[in-house]
Amino acid sequence: MSAQSNPSAGEDYPRTYQKFLEWFADETACPQYVMRCRWPQGFECAHCGTKAEPWTTSRGYLHCRECGSEVSVTAGTIFDRTRMPLRTWFAAMWFVTSQKDGASALGLKRVLGFGSYQTAWSWLHKLRQAMVRPGRDRLCGRIEVDETYIGGADVGGKRGRGSEKKEIVVIAVEIHSPKGFGRVRMRQIPDVSGESLVPFVCDVAQKGSEILTDGWRGYKHHRTVASDTGDPAHVSMPGVHRIAALVKRWLLSTHQGSVSQKHLEYYLDEYTFRFNRRTSRSRGMLFYRLMQQAVATPPLPYRQIVERKHNI
Ligand SMILES: [Zn+2]
Repeated sequence: MSAQSNPSAGEDYPRTYQKFLEWFADETACPQYVMRCRWPQGFECAHCGTKAEPWTTSRGYLHCRECGSEVSVTAGTIFDRTRMPLRTWFAAMWFVTSQKDGASALGLKRVLGFGSYQTAWSWLHKLRQAMVRPGRDRLCGRIEVDETYIGGADVGGKRGRGSEKKEIVVIAVEIHSPKGFGRVRMRQIPDVSGESLVPFVCDVAQKGSEILTDGWRGYKHHRTVASDTGDPAHVSMPGVHRIAALVKRWLLSTHQGSVSQKHLEYYLDEYTFRFNRRTSRSRGMLFYRLMQQAVATPPLPYRQIVERKHNI
């Protein structure tokens, strides 16, 4: 496996769907690939720290040659204790990452032939959980920060649901010169007070970045440039306005507005994952990135998803 920072198609991940089918033609290829992604420098026993190729037992456990402890290749990952074949998980990950706009729970249910919508829905949430890279880099340079409102009449669009209150989402986006955007970050916040906005900016923007805001808000450690021209947001904050429009359109089209406010942040994570990798040359690369993060993401039980215990 090449350096993780510079993975290559054909070596670290399959380039096309045909290759994907070849790579993972049988159920034994999947745990091997999980192992490779999980321990790129080679297996290390969590109990004794030994770095030696483990035995694989007949039940598929990894058996440490030194201390004899056994661990499942998927223990502690989002695949932990799954009753489904890993191949099915891999197929779901390919399906989600190979399509420009991702997949809906209904679409995943159909393509994988799941009996229940809930299974497809919970799988997608588990994958979304893995789309947030722990310790991810901060945005830098010129960054627009502004809030948008999602929900109510925007999402769903059905009368009668309009009484649902809109959710506030703060968006930060890198602005390139002379034009174009870099990466984005988003967070659902309870209100637009400094107590909600300042921690967001501190978390997502590198110190010394230039923060462009609408109206006056000071962010310590950052150079703040406030627009108080009185222009509407789509004029003074074109980057945030554009991202907000794309996110809303995606929620309405791919997910047909069926996103509950409780779970909105999972969807924001998926959108961010996809948007920040939109220039990847190969869709297989997105599959690979998701796999790397899936094996580094602890399991997310169904109950936790339903109750929305978002980890971030
Ligand atoms: Zn050991």
